[in-house]
Amino acid sequence: MRAARWQCAALLALAVAKGAGAHAPPPEPPLGDEAPAVSPDCRTAAASLHFDFAGAAPSACAITGERDFTLLVTPEHAPPINPSPWYAFRYEADEGGPITVTLRYLAGQHRYAPKLAMGDGEWRELPAEPTPDGKGVVLRLPAGKGSVSAQERIIPGDASADLARWSGLAGAQPFQLGQSHDGRPIEAIRIGRADAPRLVVLLGRQHPPEVTGAIAMRAFVDALVEARARAQQDFADLQFLIVPMLNPDGVARGHWRANRGAQDLNRDWGAFTQPETRSVKTWLDALPAGVRPVLMVDFHSTRSNLFYVQGPDEASAAQQRFLAAWLEAREAEVPGYSFSIEPRNANPGSGTAKNWFHDAYGIPAYTYEVADEADRAATRAAAGLLAQTLPEALTALAD
Ligand SMILES: [Zn+2]
Repeated sequence: MRAARWQCAALLALAVAKGAGAHAPPPEPPLGDEAPAVSPDCRTAAASLHFDFAGAAPSACAITGERDFTLLVTPEHAPPINPSPWYAFRYEADEGGPITVTLRYLAGQHRYAPKLAMGDGEWRELPAEPTPDGKGVVLRLPAGKGSVSAQERIIPGDASADLARWSGLAGAQPFQLGQSHDGRPIEAIRIGRADAPRLVVLLGRQHPPEVTGAIAMRAFVDALVEARARAQQDFADLQFLIVPMLNPDGVARGHWRANRGAQDLNRDWGAFTQPETRSVKTWLDALPAGVRPVLMVDFHSTRSNLFYVQGPDEASAAQQRFLAAWLEAREAEVPGYSFSIEPRNANPGSGTAKNWFHDAYGIPAYTYEVADEADRAATRAAAGLLAQTLPEALTALAD
């Protein structure tokens, strides 16, 4: 129980640091999206913090005053870990004024500008004031009930709703590729004819905090299926496998990076030691003869908008034509969403989806990275444009 031990160490560190108020280690969360009660409440007469929903991180919480709390934001396993410190909690505060929540980080630094949702459900960004020691931030939250997280929350239930919407538009049924460690379904949908020979694979949410990548993927698929519905025609010899939520356990549990097996899924392609990556591989292995992947796009988030693509030494002439047709000259086409194209030769054995798909099928395989702070409307506009231009650009691969 590596994760539980780490949590316990985190709790001790907080207790030592603050000298008061920490609770017992949280119980294991139950399955499902509705109520993974990961941490006990943190409560005074005036206010309380709660961690009882999908996407909440099991943070250790200390009461430092009647209206003041400190959260120790803790990774799901011991360092080293990618510094994407995810936090999420909800709160209730009486009308006596704002409350403060100080975020401190174990093995990380403040990265994500906090988002607050209150009664209207709209996410708005909150100011975060650095603590005097520079190692944390202080949030001032208005009285009432609200929900705070590192980014807007897009949880497994939202991905299921997206799949249902795409199903309605495309007339295709979502299906289950496999199951996560916790038993959550790895859901997918295929758009296009099952015997269409050219397959595009779209993957999302290998890394739980990378919500802007999820926002782009949602808009990308929306544009694909809406264009197809409008035209009332099929993609001819093209089909899409769409897997929007490859790490549902990590998302539901508020992880920074890993799945429930404490593995970075985007280092497991090739080894396939994890049920989530294996579920995709198994499906691909069962494709009928005559159906073959022609492109893989894997949606992520990082500090800036960019595409990791194959380097010139490993991209064939046809692949370079495709890159030119799809992405080049579009780097500044959408106002508010400029991006760069970063050719990277494969680091053999790196275990990324990008490198594995390129090696296994000899196809273009790109990582679609969206900036953490990217303008959301521009992110959606760019994704929609890139989806609409994809089928035509793919013809560059045909000859
Ligand atoms: Zn990532």
